[in-house]
Amino acid sequence: MTKEKIVNFGYKYRLYPTKDQHQILDHQMFIYNQAYNICHNLWYKENNKNKDLPKELKKYRSAVSYDTVVKRALKFRKLSFSTVVTQQARINFLKAVKRAFSKDTVSKRLKAIESAQTPKEKAKAYSLGMPTFKSSRDVFQSFNWNNQGCHINKSPLNKRFGILRLLKTNFKFRYHRELPENHKLSSITISKDSTGYFVSFGIEFTKQIDLAVSSENIDISKSIGIDLNAYTIAVSNNVDFIAQQNISPVSMGHLIDNGATNRKGLKYKTSSLVLLRKQSRRVLKELENSKKNKTKFKLGSNHRKTQSKINRLTKKIANQKNDLYHKISTALTNTFDLIAVEDLKTKNMSKSSKGNEIVHGKKVKQKSGLNRTILNASFYQFVSMIHYKQTMLNDKLFVKVNPQYTSQECSQCGNIDKANRPKQDKFQCTACGFETNPDIQASKTILKRGLQSFGLGTSLVDSKHKAFRSTSLEVAS
Ligand SMILES: [Zn+2]
Repeated sequence: MTKEKIVNFGYKYRLYPTKDQHQILDHQMFIYNQAYNICHNLWYKENNKNKDLPKELKKYRSAVSYDTVVKRALKFRKLSFSTVVTQQARINFLKAVKRAFSKDTVSKRLKAIESAQTPKEKAKAYSLGMPTFKSSRDVFQSFNWNNQGCHINKSPLNKRFGILRLLKTNFKFRYHRELPENHKLSSITISKDSTGYFVSFGIEFTKQIDLAVSSENIDISKSIGIDLNAYTIAVSNNVDFIAQQNISPVSMGHLIDNGATNRKGLKYKTSSLVLLRKQSRRVLKELENSKKNKTKFKLGSNHRKTQSKINRLTKKIANQKNDLYHKISTALTNTFDLIAVEDLKTKNMSKSSKGNEIVHGKKVKQKSGLNRTILNASFYQFVSMIHYKQTMLNDKLFVKVNPQYTSQECSQCGNIDKANRPKQDKFQCTACGFETNPDIQASKTILKRGLQSFGLGTSLVDSKHKAFRSTSLEVAS
């Protein structure tokens, strides 16, 4: 039995604007930034006025009033603009304000203010999560459009390209992936970075899905636990199909390369590190010079050239990783009905390694290197991909579990003991003698906890790690 589900998805394509079209797009980005900054100014003034007033006297500007002032200011400066772009800027700015005062952001900000020590840190903490001004000199630029007055067509000359009709202009884009049938366009974002121009279509479409998976009808053998590590993604089930589909360069059985060190990525990473070092030497030298000669601190054109090289490399590395994560997460969500991952929020991975009373900064160097690698692996991005694909696209089960002691708990007998982990790369249970790779072991414990959270269970005795339903779990215990 199938049912229909409405899903939202973003589709991003590379744009190939002509030189004249560069100017058209750059101008819209400039207008977007200006409109955004005018809104920022208005809001800031209003905020200052309201600050000391009692609640009933506080006055807030309406959206229409923001738009009117923006229009007047841009007209006064004799700039040509489209009201769609300025309105989108205002919408995004007000969204940013809303985010800045959301419960989550406010508590983060308060925490940062509390722990800040130097005046510089304090200032930074106060502005945490607050909307910032948009500079047209930044590498990344963008503007938004709604779904009005634009069309997407296939290029009549070359099927590999599409034509986006926008701002009375035909923009060519590389149509590398078909938009889903019967889609509805909800928004357009045009962006630009160090590698070129892009268009992202916000799409709404109806997807046919099999009956939603629930804890009642799930095939438990189609459930998997995932443990994220600095270099690999360890999984509780055999995923040889990932190697067969040529998705990840190294993926055998229960370990998938997470892209932190894949051959190509490493090459780019090494060259970008070399450039970064070169760059920081340059900055230090100039800093010294300007201090010694009492001249203005100024970086030359070589600095700018190197920086744009670094930006391009960083983008390339990010693209590769993004692509890899999309492929792995799609393969996993297509195959498994239940996916359990560690709750990264509680995982002690990016904590400062400055040390505390107990550790006294021991292993600080080692840990900070690891921290960097871990953060590099951008787990959050990967987990959110799985989350979205599993629950929003496929109506399957997804759960984040508490990762505490997963590395010390035996998946076979449940024994939790620090001594189960005699070495970094070895797991050996002190109770039942079970021996395995510690990461795979952790993924099995994660699966067990994931199943338990849905009232399902796994047999601890069966060495094949067979799963069963909670009724039999009760009988067993
Ligand atoms: Zn054991």
